[in-house]
Amino acid sequence: TSEDKKEHIQEFKLDPDSELRFEVESKGEKAYVTLKSGLAEIFGTELVKGKQYEFLAGAKVAVFTWKGCCLELKGKTDVTYVAKETPMVIYCNCHAALELMRIEAERENKKGPITLVVGPCDVGKSTLCQILLNYAVRMGRRPLFVDLDVGQGQISIPGTIGALLIERPASLDEGFSQEAPLVYQYGHKTPSTNSTLFSMVANQLACVVKERLESNKKTKASGVIINTCGWIKGGGYKQLINHAKSFEVDVILVLDQERLYNELVRDLPSFVKIVFIPKSGGVVERSKNSRSEARDQRIREYFYGTPKNPLYPHTFELKLSDVKIFKIGAPPLPDSCLPLGMKAEDHLTKIVPITPNAAILHHILAVSYAKKEEDDLLLSHVAGFVCVTNIDMERQTLSVLSPQPKPLPNNILLLSEFQFMDSH
Ligand code: ATP
Repeated sequence: TSEDKKEHIQEFKLDPDSELRFEVESKGEKAYVTLKSGLAEIFGTELVKGKQYEFLAGAKVAVFTWKGCCLELKGKTDVTYVAKETPMVIYCNCHAALELMRIEAERENKKGPITLVVGPCDVGKSTLCQILLNYAVRMGRRPLFVDLDVGQGQISIPGTIGALLIERPASLDEGFSQEAPLVYQYGHKTPSTNSTLFSMVANQLACVVKERLESNKKTKASGVIINTCGWIKGGGYKQLINHAKSFEVDVILVLDQERLYNELVRDLPSFVKIVFIPKSGGVVERSKNSRSEARDQRIREYFYGTPKNPLYPHTFELKLSDVKIFKIGAPPLPDSCLPLGMKAEDHLTKIVPITPNAAILHHILAVSYAKKEEDDLLLSHVAGFVCVTNIDMERQTLSVLSPQPKPLPNNILLLSEFQFMDSH
């Protein structure tokens, strides 16, 4: 009730270079922030004075001020405090260094900085990317954002990687505007499930990102910010080295882990600038549970939007004979059974046709842009996703939940490991 909310109004006067941190933990709770005076930003997005911003359960927020400000916080928040120690000056210096590289790139009509952000889980990689992208667009740049974090990605849904042109700061409700993202399907939670496939898809994305850079002068000089996932040991480290090569990165920002920093300095050529940066004390560790909830939430938002911006998906039937469903990766064969000239890893990228059956119920299917399954499927980006909501073997039909009405843009569908239970 409004009576309850009144009890929870708090005012905070922030000194320069400090931030108000809070979380909204309990389900169904909301918190509201209003900037009363001064200047403030949330992960690089400026707050408009007098405007009330709403935060839902799960939000972990820092309202930072360079010059000092007064904030009003309403509603039920958890662990609410003002922090004076933040790494924002260091992050801002990183931005300034990238900006110098952009100015030079512009002058010489060369590519701007390609920056890879790496580090273990829960160190604020996604947040740092957001801050750097926001600062870049606020300076009039048009950088590309590449997200290789398949599990907790910010572009599209879990199980995918992609690229997005950033033309305005992230909105505090919806994040970066998702106009025409370039999305590739990988289909699993972590790159380790099928790292051969993951490298292949990431390399393809790298090729297309390079082409896009060349096609737009402003973006070319602005460069790319690449987010990665927290898998940094063994195979994960090899992936990072692979990304550095395939995207031809100029700068690597290593968050929090000195060992990783030293390994990268050892293994990469010296023209790659590798910078160690501390993590913010505000970054909140997420449990396995909250990660999986966040993934679910992302898929739900893909179909249904957010409370502020609801979407109304369609459900329709498809004839099984009208669609072709594939999965990538077959169970390995022993060497002795391999056809001549085939390598044992080849099964990992094998395109396997699927006869629809009850096992694909609730699964996400990516709608591929591939024209022919054989060669194109692995290297094509996707138009979007549907979720299998019913299978009727008798009538030989498949019901799907889809953001767009019938017909699908293509009949070649790719099975994802992810499932979504439609509770609407
Ligand atoms: P992952 O390993 O999943 O990729 P990550 O390293 O990318 O995680 P983030 O997603 O950036 O980490 O941050 C984790 C959480 O911490 C996010 O919910 C983010 O909003 C929150 N967070 C980041 N910085 C701060 C801060 N200074 N104060 C409060 N919360 C913060």
